Amino acid sequence: SSTLTIKDLHVAVEGKEILKGVNLEVKTGEFHAIMGPNGTGKSTLSAAIMGHPKYEVTKGTVTLDGQDVLEMEVDERARAGLFLAMQYPSEISGVTNADFLRTAINSRRGEGNEIPLMPFIKKLDQTMQLLEMDVNMGQRYVNEGFSGGEKKRNEILQLMMLEPKIAILDEIDSGLDIDALKVVAKGINSMRNENFGCIIITHYQRLLNYITPDYVHVMMQGRIVKSGGPELALRLEAEGYDWIKKELGIED
Ligand code: ADP
Ligand code: MG
Ligand code: MG
Repeated sequence: SSTLTIKDLHVAVEGKEILKGVNLEVKTGEFHAIMGPNGTGKSTLSAAIMGHPKYEVTKGTVTLDGQDVLEMEVDERARAGLFLAMQYPSEISGVTNADFLRTAINSRRGEGNEIPLMPFIKKLDQTMQLLEMDVNMGQRYVNEGFSGGEKKRNEILQLMMLEPKIAILDEIDSGLDIDALKVVAKGINSMRNENFGCIIITHYQRLLNYITPDYVHVMMQGRIVKSGGPELALRLEAEGYDWIKKELGIED
Protein backbone atom coordinates (compact mmCIF):
# COMPACT_ATOMS: atom_id res chain seq x y z
CA SER A 1 0.00 0.00 0.00
CA SER A 2 1.01 3.63 -0.54
CA THR A 3 0.44 6.84 1.38
CA LEU A 4 0.46 10.45 0.24
CA THR A 5 1.19 12.67 3.21
CA ILE A 6 0.69 16.42 3.17
CA LYS A 7 2.03 18.16 6.25
CA ASP A 8 1.59 21.81 7.20
CA LEU A 9 1.65 22.82 3.55
CA HIS A 10 1.94 26.54 2.88
CA VAL A 11 1.78 27.73 -0.72
CA ALA A 12 2.11 31.23 -2.14
CA VAL A 13 1.07 32.49 -5.57
CA GLU A 14 2.72 35.67 -6.77
CA GLY A 15 3.88 36.38 -3.26
CA LYS A 16 0.46 35.93 -1.69
CA GLU A 17 -0.02 33.09 0.75
CA ILE A 18 -2.97 30.95 -0.39
CA LEU A 19 -2.48 27.68 1.50
CA LYS A 20 -1.89 28.23 5.19
CA GLY A 21 -1.06 24.86 6.62
CA VAL A 22 -2.82 21.95 4.93
CA ASN A 23 -2.61 18.54 6.57
CA LEU A 24 -3.95 15.44 4.82
CA GLU A 25 -3.09 11.77 4.54
CA VAL A 26 -4.42 9.65 1.69
CA LYS A 27 -3.78 5.93 1.46
CA THR A 28 -4.38 3.57 -1.42
CA GLY A 29 -7.84 2.07 -1.08
CA GLU A 30 -9.29 5.38 0.14
CA PHE A 31 -11.43 7.98 -1.64
CA HIS A 32 -11.23 11.48 -0.16
CA ALA A 33 -13.36 14.42 -1.24
CA ILE A 34 -12.27 18.00 -0.70
CA MET A 35 -15.07 20.53 -0.83
CA GLY A 36 -15.16 24.22 -0.13
CA PRO A 37 -16.29 27.60 -1.38
CA ASN A 38 -14.68 29.12 -4.46
CA GLY A 39 -11.29 30.68 -4.02
CA THR A 40 -10.31 28.79 -0.88
CA GLY A 41 -7.25 27.13 -2.38
CA LYS A 42 -8.47 23.74 -3.59
CA SER A 43 -6.94 24.08 -7.05
CA THR A 44 -3.84 25.61 -5.48
CA LEU A 45 -3.39 22.41 -3.47
CA SER A 46 -3.65 20.30 -6.60
CA ALA A 47 -1.32 22.59 -8.59
CA ALA A 48 1.30 22.63 -5.84
CA ILE A 49 1.34 18.83 -5.61
CA MET A 50 1.56 18.72 -9.39
CA GLY A 51 4.60 20.97 -9.32
CA HIS A 52 3.17 23.92 -11.21
CA PRO A 53 5.98 26.51 -11.28
CA LYS A 54 3.69 29.40 -10.32
CA TYR A 55 2.89 27.83 -6.96
CA GLU A 56 5.64 28.30 -4.43
CA VAL A 57 5.77 25.98 -1.46
CA THR A 58 6.94 28.20 1.38
CA LYS A 59 6.60 25.66 4.18
CA GLY A 60 5.61 22.07 4.83
CA THR A 61 6.09 18.74 3.08
CA VAL A 62 4.43 16.41 0.60
CA THR A 63 5.66 12.84 0.59
CA LEU A 64 4.67 9.64 -1.17
CA ASP A 65 5.72 6.67 0.93
CA GLY A 66 8.27 8.85 2.61
CA GLN A 67 9.74 10.15 -0.66
CA ASP A 68 9.84 13.91 -1.02
CA VAL A 69 7.41 14.72 -3.83
CA LEU A 70 8.29 18.42 -3.88
CA GLU A 71 11.89 17.59 -4.79
CA MET A 72 10.77 15.59 -7.84
CA GLU A 73 10.47 16.88 -11.39
CA VAL A 74 6.90 16.79 -12.70
CA ASP A 75 7.49 13.62 -14.77
CA GLU A 76 9.12 11.96 -11.76
CA ARG A 77 5.96 12.62 -9.77
CA ALA A 78 3.97 10.76 -12.40
CA ARG A 79 6.48 7.92 -12.45
CA ALA A 80 6.31 7.68 -8.67
CA GLY A 81 2.58 6.96 -9.07
CA LEU A 82 0.86 10.31 -8.76
CA PHE A 83 -1.82 11.39 -11.20
CA LEU A 84 -2.95 14.97 -11.33
CA ALA A 85 -5.84 15.85 -13.54
CA MET A 86 -5.81 19.55 -14.01
CA GLN A 87 -8.93 21.60 -14.06
CA TYR A 88 -8.17 22.59 -17.65
CA PRO A 89 -6.50 19.71 -19.49
CA SER A 90 -4.17 20.88 -22.21
CA GLU A 91 -4.04 19.97 -25.86
CA ILE A 92 -1.08 18.19 -27.40
CA SER A 93 -1.02 18.80 -31.11
CA GLY A 94 0.43 16.11 -33.40
CA VAL A 95 0.32 13.35 -30.75
CA THR A 96 -2.56 10.88 -30.88
CA ASN A 97 -4.34 9.94 -27.72
CA ALA A 98 -3.29 6.31 -28.11
CA ASP A 99 0.39 7.18 -28.61
CA PHE A 100 0.33 9.58 -25.71
CA LEU A 101 -1.16 6.95 -23.41
CA ARG A 102 1.26 4.23 -24.49
CA THR A 103 4.23 6.54 -23.97
CA ALA A 104 2.95 7.62 -20.57
CA ILE A 105 2.31 4.03 -19.47
CA ASN A 106 5.76 2.94 -20.61
CA SER A 107 7.42 5.86 -18.94
CA ARG A 108 5.84 4.69 -15.68
CA ARG A 109 6.70 1.04 -16.24
CA GLY A 110 10.30 1.82 -17.12
CA GLU A 111 12.74 0.56 -19.71
CA GLY A 112 12.63 -3.18 -20.41
CA ASN A 113 9.13 -3.44 -18.94
CA GLU A 114 7.11 -1.77 -21.71
CA ILE A 115 3.51 -2.84 -22.26
CA PRO A 116 3.27 -5.01 -25.40
CA LEU A 117 1.13 -3.57 -28.19
CA MET A 118 -1.73 -6.09 -28.16
CA PRO A 119 -2.48 -5.95 -24.42
CA PHE A 120 -2.28 -2.17 -24.67
CA ILE A 121 -4.81 -2.04 -27.50
CA LYS A 122 -7.10 -4.45 -25.71
CA LYS A 123 -7.02 -2.43 -22.52
CA LEU A 124 -7.55 0.81 -24.44
CA ASP A 125 -10.56 -0.65 -26.27
CA GLN A 126 -12.12 -1.99 -23.09
CA THR A 127 -11.59 1.23 -21.18
CA MET A 128 -12.96 3.41 -23.96
CA GLN A 129 -15.98 1.14 -24.14
CA LEU A 130 -16.61 1.47 -20.41
CA LEU A 131 -16.35 5.24 -20.76
CA GLU A 132 -18.68 5.14 -23.78
CA MET A 133 -16.10 6.94 -25.90
CA ASP A 134 -16.09 6.97 -29.66
CA VAL A 135 -13.40 4.58 -30.97
CA ASN A 136 -11.99 7.41 -33.08
CA MET A 137 -10.94 9.26 -29.91
CA GLY A 138 -7.87 7.05 -29.73
CA GLN A 139 -6.57 8.34 -33.03
CA ARG A 140 -7.36 12.00 -32.43
CA TYR A 141 -4.71 14.40 -31.17
CA VAL A 142 -4.76 14.73 -27.39
CA ASN A 143 -7.61 16.99 -26.41
CA GLU A 144 -7.44 18.93 -29.69
CA GLY A 145 -10.94 20.07 -30.55
CA PHE A 146 -12.39 17.94 -27.74
CA SER A 147 -15.50 19.34 -26.13
CA GLY A 148 -15.38 20.06 -22.40
CA GLY A 149 -17.13 16.78 -21.69
CA GLU A 150 -14.81 14.82 -23.97
CA LYS A 151 -11.77 16.28 -22.21
CA LYS A 152 -13.08 15.18 -18.83
CA ARG A 153 -13.81 11.72 -20.15
CA ASN A 154 -10.35 11.67 -21.65
CA GLU A 155 -8.83 12.48 -18.27
CA ILE A 156 -10.60 9.50 -16.80
CA LEU A 157 -9.33 7.40 -19.71
CA GLN A 158 -5.79 8.54 -18.84
CA LEU A 159 -6.42 7.72 -15.20
CA MET A 160 -7.69 4.23 -15.93
CA MET A 161 -4.93 3.47 -18.41
CA LEU A 162 -2.11 4.78 -16.22
CA GLU A 163 -3.29 3.12 -12.99
CA PRO A 164 -1.60 5.55 -10.63
CA LYS A 165 -1.29 4.89 -6.91
CA ILE A 166 -2.85 8.21 -5.93
CA ALA A 167 -4.87 10.56 -8.13
CA ILE A 168 -5.95 14.13 -7.57
CA LEU A 169 -9.01 15.02 -9.60
CA ASP A 170 -9.77 18.72 -9.59
CA GLU A 171 -13.34 19.60 -10.56
CA ILE A 172 -13.62 16.61 -12.82
CA ASP A 173 -17.37 17.24 -12.73
CA SER A 174 -17.45 20.86 -13.81
CA GLY A 175 -19.43 21.52 -16.96
CA LEU A 176 -20.66 17.94 -17.33
CA ASP A 177 -24.24 17.07 -18.11
CA ILE A 178 -25.80 14.32 -16.05
CA ASP A 179 -25.04 11.51 -18.53
CA ALA A 180 -21.38 12.47 -18.84
CA LEU A 181 -21.19 12.83 -15.05
CA LYS A 182 -22.47 9.29 -14.61
CA VAL A 183 -19.92 7.94 -17.08
CA VAL A 184 -17.07 9.78 -15.36
CA ALA A 185 -18.26 8.44 -12.00
CA LYS A 186 -18.48 4.92 -13.43
CA GLY A 187 -14.86 5.20 -14.55
CA ILE A 188 -13.62 6.44 -11.19
CA ASN A 189 -15.66 3.83 -9.31
CA SER A 190 -14.17 1.11 -11.50
CA MET A 191 -10.77 2.12 -10.09
CA ARG A 192 -11.82 1.31 -6.54
CA ASN A 193 -9.30 -1.20 -5.28
CA GLU A 194 -6.65 -1.56 -2.61
CA ASN A 195 -3.92 -0.24 -4.94
CA PHE A 196 -5.59 3.05 -5.75
CA GLY A 197 -6.50 6.09 -3.71
CA CYS A 198 -7.81 9.46 -4.76
CA ILE A 199 -8.61 13.00 -3.80
CA ILE A 200 -11.73 14.29 -5.51
CA ILE A 201 -11.92 18.07 -5.43
CA THR A 202 -15.38 19.37 -6.08
CA HIS A 203 -17.31 22.54 -5.56
CA TYR A 204 -20.63 20.74 -5.71
CA GLN A 205 -22.01 17.76 -3.86
CA ARG A 206 -23.58 16.41 -7.07
CA LEU A 207 -20.63 14.20 -8.06
CA LEU A 208 -20.69 12.60 -4.63
CA ASN A 209 -24.16 11.23 -5.37
CA TYR A 210 -22.40 8.89 -7.78
CA ILE A 211 -19.04 8.40 -6.08
CA THR A 212 -19.21 7.74 -2.36
CA PRO A 213 -16.10 9.04 -0.64
CA ASP A 214 -14.75 7.46 2.52
CA TYR A 215 -13.75 10.87 3.87
CA VAL A 216 -14.98 14.39 3.19
CA HIS A 217 -12.84 17.43 4.00
CA VAL A 218 -13.86 21.04 3.95
CA MET A 219 -11.32 23.63 2.86
CA MET A 220 -11.70 27.24 3.87
CA GLN A 221 -9.25 30.09 3.71
CA GLY A 222 -6.35 27.84 2.79
CA ARG A 223 -6.82 25.15 5.40
CA ILE A 224 -8.77 21.97 5.90
CA VAL A 225 -11.10 23.07 8.64
CA LYS A 226 -13.35 20.06 9.01
CA SER A 227 -13.29 16.37 8.13
CA GLY A 228 -15.94 13.70 8.29
CA GLY A 229 -17.67 10.97 6.33
CA PRO A 230 -20.09 11.15 3.38
CA GLU A 231 -22.75 12.65 5.65
CA LEU A 232 -20.70 15.85 5.82
CA ALA A 233 -21.13 16.37 2.06
CA LEU A 234 -24.87 15.90 2.40
CA ARG A 235 -25.07 18.49 5.15
CA LEU A 236 -23.07 20.96 3.02
CA GLU A 237 -25.47 20.37 0.16
CA ALA A 238 -28.44 21.06 2.39
CA GLU A 239 -27.08 23.89 4.51
CA GLY A 240 -24.13 25.43 2.69
CA TYR A 241 -20.99 26.52 4.51
CA ASP A 242 -22.29 29.13 6.94
CA TRP A 243 -22.73 26.72 9.83
CA ILE A 244 -19.07 25.73 9.59
CA LYS A 245 -18.00 29.35 9.54
CA LYS A 246 -20.09 29.95 12.65
CA GLU A 247 -18.78 26.85 14.35
CA LEU A 248 -15.20 27.95 13.71
CA GLY A 249 -15.73 31.66 14.18
CA ILE A 250 -14.55 32.37 10.63
CA GLU A 251 -15.65 35.64 9.05
CA ASP A 252 -15.56 36.59 5.41
P1 ADP B 1 -10.44 27.14 -5.48
O1 ADP B 1 -9.91 26.07 -6.37
O2 ADP B 1 -10.74 26.67 -4.11
O3 ADP B 1 -11.59 27.85 -6.09
P2 ADP B 1 -7.95 28.46 -6.08
O4 ADP B 1 -6.89 27.58 -5.52
O5 ADP B 1 -8.18 28.39 -7.53
O6 ADP B 1 -9.29 28.24 -5.28
O7 ADP B 1 -7.62 29.97 -5.72
C1 ADP B 1 -7.30 30.38 -4.39
C2 ADP B 1 -6.82 31.81 -4.41
O8 ADP B 1 -5.55 31.86 -5.06
C3 ADP B 1 -7.72 32.76 -5.17
O9 ADP B 1 -7.74 33.99 -4.47
C4 ADP B 1 -7.04 32.90 -6.50
O10 ADP B 1 -7.32 34.15 -7.07
C5 ADP B 1 -5.58 32.76 -6.14
N1 ADP B 1 -4.83 32.13 -7.24
C6 ADP B 1 -4.83 30.84 -7.56
N2 ADP B 1 -4.06 30.60 -8.64
C7 ADP B 1 -3.58 31.79 -9.02
C8 ADP B 1 -2.71 32.22 -10.07
N3 ADP B 1 -2.20 31.35 -10.96
N4 ADP B 1 -2.42 33.53 -10.16
C9 ADP B 1 -2.94 34.40 -9.27
N5 ADP B 1 -3.74 34.07 -8.26
C10 ADP B 1 -4.07 32.78 -8.12
MG1 MG C 1 -11.88 28.07 -8.57
MG1 MG D 1 -10.55 25.28 -8.14
